[in-house]
Amino acid sequence: MIIADLQIHSRYARACSKNTTLDLLERYAKIKGLDLLGTGDFQHPLWNKEIKEKLTEDENGILWSKTKFPFLWQTEISLMYKQDGKGRRIHHLIFAPNGEVANQIIDFLGSKGRLDYDGRPIFGFTSIELVDFMRDIDQDIEIIPAHCMTPYFGLFGSKTGFDTLKDCFKDNTKYIHAIESGMSADPPMLWRLKEDINIVSFSDAHSYWPWRIGRESTIFECKLEYKEILKAIRTKQGLNSTIETVPDYGKYHYDGHANCNISLSPEETKKVDGMCPKCKKALTIGVQYRIEELAKEPENYKPKEFIEYKRLIPLHELITTVYGMKQLTSKKVWTIYNNLIKNFNNEFNILLNINEEELKKVADEKLVDVIIKNREDKLKIIPGYDGGYGKVILDESKTINENKDKSLTDF
Ligand SMILES: [Zn+2]
Ligand SMILES: [Zn+2]
Repeated sequence: MIIADLQIHSRYARACSKNTTLDLLERYAKIKGLDLLGTGDFQHPLWNKEIKEKLTEDENGILWSKTKFPFLWQTEISLMYKQDGKGRRIHHLIFAPNGEVANQIIDFLGSKGRLDYDGRPIFGFTSIELVDFMRDIDQDIEIIPAHCMTPYFGLFGSKTGFDTLKDCFKDNTKYIHAIESGMSADPPMLWRLKEDINIVSFSDAHSYWPWRIGRESTIFECKLEYKEILKAIRTKQGLNSTIETVPDYGKYHYDGHANCNISLSPEETKKVDGMCPKCKKALTIGVQYRIEELAKEPENYKPKEFIEYKRLIPLHELITTVYGMKQLTSKKVWTIYNNLIKNFNNEFNILLNINEEELKKVADEKLVDVIIKNREDKLKIIPGYDGGYGKVILDESKTINENKDKSLTDF
């Protein structure tokens, strides 16, 4: 079993932690319980140099660190173009089968624009052209529309996206095998769109911290080879399941205005005609609303064939909530977290496998209760909206109140 997070960013991508290194990504991937990471941003000249210095590629297209942690050639680009009379902005993940092909992609992208100003560079060609260009280089390059529901950069986004895959890719739709769910959507929401497409899930982590990397990931049941991963994404054979966050936890689940403190469900948004009751401007429409708009099937629809999924909130988030702390990064949260990791190896093991009795030997029973609720997908969450994360809420009797302490970092 391979738990993989194949949507990583380097420190050269905008709005990402300036401290990210391959060493730190590996260190926290192991703590998280991940078995494979994307390199992130492989076309960025400085990050590319670091990849080549730090990692060694094997004959199956997997890159290994000196301490034997595997990576796969991965990047994300942003396309901005006009199609069918409307401005489009779509992010796509790109996986490359080996370093040689990655170099050809870099040469190609470099001929279309600068690569050095942002780890997630912008280009003006269309998604249709992207498929053609990549297929000209190598048919084993995989393109996956990233965080496909987010309003501004998702393929199905309410602001600059399309209504269907076919509208976006036209005849090239057949070369798209999977979409990435993003945090604000999960497979049951996407099934309702009735697109004939596989679903994968990755974190889009902007730092290496364990509450970011792996928060969404995909579990493969195959050999650790690029070709096998590719086959799983393309055919479901070897695609075991996805780990999703609860969609309410995502930053664009509900509609609203962060500045106005207004958060609305899709029904409430309809009642106010999409206008903010406070500032009277158009609301930022979230993913749930957009799903309702595009859905061809009712809620709870299940396709005949589908890939299983789990919904999990990161452990740091749980500890922070139970102990009533303000910051995920507080020292106290780390102390409790590290003690759990010391006893049970990694976070996914704690969140998914270790039984209640064992957990109680190491952690407060209120925290254990929340870990089990998380595993059973029974946590209550106030939905995120307009770029702010959702929040786990607990009855007061389920929390532990202690003095707040200082945060260590902003990321
Ligand atoms: Zn993106
Ligand atoms: Zn407003």
